[in-house]
Amino acid sequence: MSLGTSARLPRPAHMTRSIPQALAQDLPSFSFEFFPPKDDAAEAHLWEAIRRLEKTRPTFVSVTYGAGGSTRDRSVRVTERIARETTLTPLAHLTCVGHSVSELRSVVGAFSAAGIRNILALRGDPLGGPGQEWVRHREGLDHADELVALVRTLGAFTVGVAAFPDQHPESPSLDADAEVLVRKADAGAEYAITQFFFTKEAYLGLRDRVAARGRDLPIIPGLMPVTNVKQLARMTQLSGQPVPDAVASRLEAVADDPAAVREVGVEITTELAQELLAEGAPGIHFITMNRSPATLRVWDNLGMTAAQ
Ligand SMILES: Cc1cc2nc3c(=O)[nH]c(=O)nc-3n(C[C@H](O)[C@H](O)[C@H](O)COP(=O)(O)OP(=O)(O)OC[C@H]3O[C@@H](n4cnc5c(N)ncnc54)[C@H](O)[C@@H]3O)c2cc1C
Repeated sequence: MSLGTSARLPRPAHMTRSIPQALAQDLPSFSFEFFPPKDDAAEAHLWEAIRRLEKTRPTFVSVTYGAGGSTRDRSVRVTERIARETTLTPLAHLTCVGHSVSELRSVVGAFSAAGIRNILALRGDPLGGPGQEWVRHREGLDHADELVALVRTLGAFTVGVAAFPDQHPESPSLDADAEVLVRKADAGAEYAITQFFFTKEAYLGLRDRVAARGRDLPIIPGLMPVTNVKQLARMTQLSGQPVPDAVASRLEAVADDPAAVREVGVEITTELAQELLAEGAPGIHFITMNRSPATLRVWDNLGMTAAQ
């Protein structure tokens, strides 16, 4: 059998970890998020980061789902390649944006054929970005809870969802966000991963509001080690999430010195991760921006160990 053929075979089931089962273990999980590269050069850089981070043996790695066209194809391709060619457990993000239900079924079928068993079910941002009006595909779905329910009917997948400690930009209140998370759990979501945030209080508030509604959903904090002030501004604008003054001023104080910004970014993320783990967070999901050094520094500072 040629190497090319074996690389395309689905991975054996024993290499595909169940994320909910991993979260039930005593040791905190850690995981890395990547976004679809925009061209071949960026894809090569991404693979360098993936190979470096693979050595830490994370609980899982995830790839965000592009807004459409070629980035979407790259999302699927990178996720499938992780499943087929690495030792990593991939979590495939999937959104409702621009898809009919039958297209969603066929993307899930392609993930399944590649041996992917963990899916993060999302609505996605409206075309044109956050702040624009959400328009459902005429044969599609309106909200993530419907996608959770759909994926659950399509096979033995584990399903995770998004959560928003600082309030989703379209949501009327933090309580409404908690109600939405409960609805997703009731539809079959087994855990949530948060949008990036910067204060322990935001996370604990969300967790308490969900617990007060009688649900015991593991909520994994999503943290972004900031390496660049401009990038933070862009991510904040894209996500609609606030940056507290205390964090912004620490970064702005060194804004003219890129190395110092990276240093402060690592410090801020390390401190927050330590506080969250001490409060019983089930793990940390690192938003890597497709780069490994800052994430690896925080991972090292936390004394996290490679999973066995
Ligand atoms: C961890 C994480 C990963 C992400 N990955 C991606 C990605 O890969 N690709 C991408 O494009 N985007 C991604 N996003 C962004 C996300 O898709 C957007 O923030 C989107 O606007 C909300 O997605 P959702 O799944 O929470 O949607 P929903 O849960 O559908 O919520 C969207 C809005 O509708 C409201 N709502 C939810 N359910 C109902 C209901 N049944 N009735 C009435 N109102 C309701 C909510 O309060 C919210 O304001 C990610 C976000 C996070 C936190």
